[in-house]
Amino acid sequence: MSSTIPALPANYRTVLDVVEAAGPGTHLTAQEIWLRSRRLQPRIGFATVHRGLLRLHQLGAVMKIEVPGGASAVYEPAATPHAHFRCAGCGTIDDLAFAVPAETVKALAARLGVAIEAETITFTGRCATCASDDGLERV
Ligand SMILES: [Zn+2]
Ligand SMILES: [Zn+2]
Repeated sequence: MSSTIPALPANYRTVLDVVEAAGPGTHLTAQEIWLRSRRLQPRIGFATVHRGLLRLHQLGAVMKIEVPGGASAVYEPAATPHAHFRCAGCGTIDDLAFAVPAETVKALAARLGVAIEAETITFTGRCATCASDDGLERV
């Protein structure tokens, strides 16, 4: 993936390395990415990491997920489109292998006369652990 990205400033490359090392399905906040980046480049600043994430997002190398109800956006390596599940109990964010079928997106765009460039789907509810905790309380 990295090899397809045009020349990046060294600091941005560090940010990309950190996100890619975390792997698909790992959702890191900018703060967490900054802390990890500092292990590779102790002098890297938070603002630089933040700018790097914006740029990498524009380039399509990093996915940004704004989670409704989540404190801050999280980032993950570019992957096939997928939805997310956020647990309202513990705040965990998990990948869900779900995407709106391409034909549906195409049909929607045609019907509305718009160009659809991205989709963001986040389901919220209770994860298995939190759901079973609730169950115990009710008994
Ligand atoms: Zn939970
Ligand atoms: Zn994800």
